[in-house]
Amino acid sequence: MKGRCMCGAVSFDATPAEAAYHACHCEMCRRWTGSAFLGITVKGDRLKFEGAEHIRTIQSSEWAERAWCGKCGTGLYYHVTAEGPYSDSYEMSLGTFDDPGKLKFDREIYVDHKSPNVALQGAETSLTRAEVLAMFSIPEEGQDQ
Ligand SMILES: [Zn+2]
Ligand SMILES: [Zn+2]
Repeated sequence: MKGRCMCGAVSFDATPAEAAYHACHCEMCRRWTGSAFLGITVKGDRLKFEGAEHIRTIQSSEWAERAWCGKCGTGLYYHVTAEGPYSDSYEMSLGTFDDPGKLKFDREIYVDHKSPNVALQGAETSLTRAEVLAMFSIPEEGQDQ
């Protein structure tokens, strides 16, 4: 599947790990996107960028970085940099794909942290913050993604 940032300086070719996307309502994703982050999981070796020299990143937590286009500011992805089973896994922003319509909406997380009036329909699974932290064995006082 192909995608690009708003200005086109960064484009990519990605093979999603599954034909599905997810939503995250955590505080960091809320601040980063202005609402909720919608992402498609892609493993690092199934992803090829063009214009990668325009990609800017910030290490947003101990285990992940977030990236955007340095020319137009489009949020591009969340990338797990830590070792472990999710290492080198990307969550590519759904909105950057040319044709994301054929993917199903399979999961939303941090549903108890949703912005007011942000309501997404049709997710097969909904998880609260506590359920997500338990799933990844992160202590309750641990930071978000
Ligand atoms: Zn751009
Ligand atoms: Zn999040």
